[in-house]
Amino acid sequence: MVCAHGQGVVKGYAIGKAAIMSAAALEVAHYRIAPEDVPGECARLEQAMCKAREELDAIAATLPDDAPRELGPLLTVHSLLLADPMLLQQTCELITERHYNAEWALTSQGQLLSEQFALMDDEYLRERGADIRQVIERILRVMSGSTSLLPSLYASDAEDSLIVVARDISPADMLRLRGGRFAAFLTDLGGPTSHTAIVARSMNVPAIVGLGHFRGLVRDGDILVVDGFTGTVLINPSGQVLQEYRERQAEYERERAELALLRDAPAVTLDGIVIKLEANIELPEEAEAAKKAGADGIGLFRSEFLFMGRSDLPTEVEQYEAYAAVVKAMDGRPVTIRTLDIGSDKTLDGDVTVATNPALGLRAIRYCLAKPEMFATQLRALLRASVFGHVRILIPMISHIHEVHATRLAIESACRELDARGVTYARNYSLGAMVEIPAIAIAIEPFVEALDFLSIGTNDLIQYTLAVDRGDSDVADLYDPMHPAVLRLIAHTINAGERAGKPVAVCGEIAGDSRVTRMLLGLGLTEFSMHPQQLLDVKKEVRQAHSNALRLKVAMALNRAERIDLATLSS
Ligand code: PEP
Ligand code: MG
Repeated sequence: MVCAHGQGVVKGYAIGKAAIMSAAALEVAHYRIAPEDVPGECARLEQAMCKAREELDAIAATLPDDAPRELGPLLTVHSLLLADPMLLQQTCELITERHYNAEWALTSQGQLLSEQFALMDDEYLRERGADIRQVIERILRVMSGSTSLLPSLYASDAEDSLIVVARDISPADMLRLRGGRFAAFLTDLGGPTSHTAIVARSMNVPAIVGLGHFRGLVRDGDILVVDGFTGTVLINPSGQVLQEYRERQAEYERERAELALLRDAPAVTLDGIVIKLEANIELPEEAEAAKKAGADGIGLFRSEFLFMGRSDLPTEVEQYEAYAAVVKAMDGRPVTIRTLDIGSDKTLDGDVTVATNPALGLRAIRYCLAKPEMFATQLRALLRASVFGHVRILIPMISHIHEVHATRLAIESACRELDARGVTYARNYSLGAMVEIPAIAIAIEPFVEALDFLSIGTNDLIQYTLAVDRGDSDVADLYDPMHPAVLRLIAHTINAGERAGKPVAVCGEIAGDSRVTRMLLGLGLTEFSMHPQQLLDVKKEVRQAHSNALRLKVAMALNRAERIDLATLSS
């Protein structure tokens, strides 16, 4: 039995037969041509590039409505790469100077370009290396005259579960594969944001990327076991191993089916406390997943993802459309949109200033207040989107009360600008802040008074309380969400909100970790915001917990600054 490891990007198990996707770039013939054949060879290349472009444009023009939103722009990038005269020109130079056949010249040029892209500092540009490879693959496929992606023995209605094994999958190919019933996707290349990952996620099909040279190890029809949790694939395992995975898969599917029944069940504890379960999203289209999971609203829309991976700033209209799409999709349920949180682990393209310690520098609200025009654009877009429902504006990384006042002034000024332009917007927005800096959790009262709601960002609160960088693997063992100091800060914030009648949520990662749901209920938390996929697990815990009993146990432990033993909360 051969075993390979990659990065599991969509969880789940799959067992099925390998269907190996063609990779023209790995299969092209290399030969030299006669000097008099050079013009003909260049013309053959140019025709193939034109045809490939026409095909892509046709796919882009007939994109299904339910295709992930990123695919349209990616197809445009591929079409632009094909139209770039440099690719044709440089490849023709290889044909002319070295007398390579067109396919050989194209793969050589592609190799060179991929290497150049891989060395680029800018992550966005580095990722374009994959696009170059995929465009070249498309041209080669046109030249070979082949139209099928998978071996012909596999019709799309084959009885066996099929697992697609590919070197990489382009957005256009992913669209073609989307129609089939595949049990999993496995690729040698790609990361969590690759097209394969995006589309597999939208199909809810297990996927593993970055498997190295896996495609070369497998033959069509090999039996594969895919474990999307650990990123492991087994080739032709023994009957016993196969049986073990069949049982795991059945158990997992039973659990998911059981959880799905909870979608419309109320999130109420055994002692009748109603708990709000909301969703964290990063892209507007994720609102659909939030609704599917039965979320009570959006507890955190990280707006920075609209600003990243591009060299210009999103316009007011672009932002308005993105925010309005979420507000409309959520159908009157509250939508909490966080103003731009940039400057630490997330940076904007073109920003070259690097703070001594970026986590303590000009980030989030500090960055926005330092760039009033950019901030005003976002605020106007938010106010305009509020017309369609209930928008809650959330300010990240607040450390001083004057930042709250400055934000209110900025909002008032944005209102005046919209008034002057005669643009409609709603005045019924709420304003809240993230509690991420220990200082505000300790001296929380003025913030509770000045704001409509609070949301505790435990990801940053833990890093700032314990002086442990949240992304540094060398100190990851010290990044401790259960540290009594962290829990006291959370408890203090929740209690202050309770006294003032202002809602307090937790939107950091711990809110979606069902192992600590009881502990958070014990701290008095009644609003949780998490990744949509985690919501039903947390709801299950809520419905089996007795909130008041948990509050007593947790309060006693915290009073003694003791570590809370989660096992004692489960009974
Ligand atoms: C947090 O800090 O807990 C949070 C939710 O924000 P982010 O992870 O985006 O910094
Ligand atoms: Mg944060």
